[in-house]
Amino acid sequence: MDECIFCKIAQGDMPADTVYQDERVTAFRDVSPQAKTHVLVIPNVHYDSLNEASADESDLLAHTLRICAMVARDEGIDESGYRMLTNIGEEGGQSVAHLHFHVMGGQELTGKLA
Ligand code: AMP
Repeated sequence: MDECIFCKIAQGDMPADTVYQDERVTAFRDVSPQAKTHVLVIPNVHYDSLNEASADESDLLAHTLRICAMVARDEGIDESGYRMLTNIGEEGGQSVAHLHFHVMGGQELTGKLA
């Protein structure tokens, strides 16, 4: 998607604080962190949200979740605990229409975040 900022980040056409990238996913720090550690993990290909990632994408989704856990380990928050979530659509609070998983931790998380 030409105008999608997360597509641009995945393609290296927009700067980001990238912590991990492979041919299928990119992980980068949230520009407006809601926790001490706040990383976004996205598939490099565009899906508006989890709604659009069909059953055909189960390998990609599994890989993306594995990378979320790997990022948490690399950030040193796997033992202390962390939160992972994806917002879907307007009432779900999604503001960027490219499927992404928030990985948040490094502090005690209470209430609603991201
Ligand atoms: P959501 O509200 O679930 O769609 O989350 C979108 C997230 O993307 C928000 O937490 C934003 O702070 C974050 N964000 C928006 N633009 C950028 C960017 N250019 N680089 C990093 N994070 C961004």
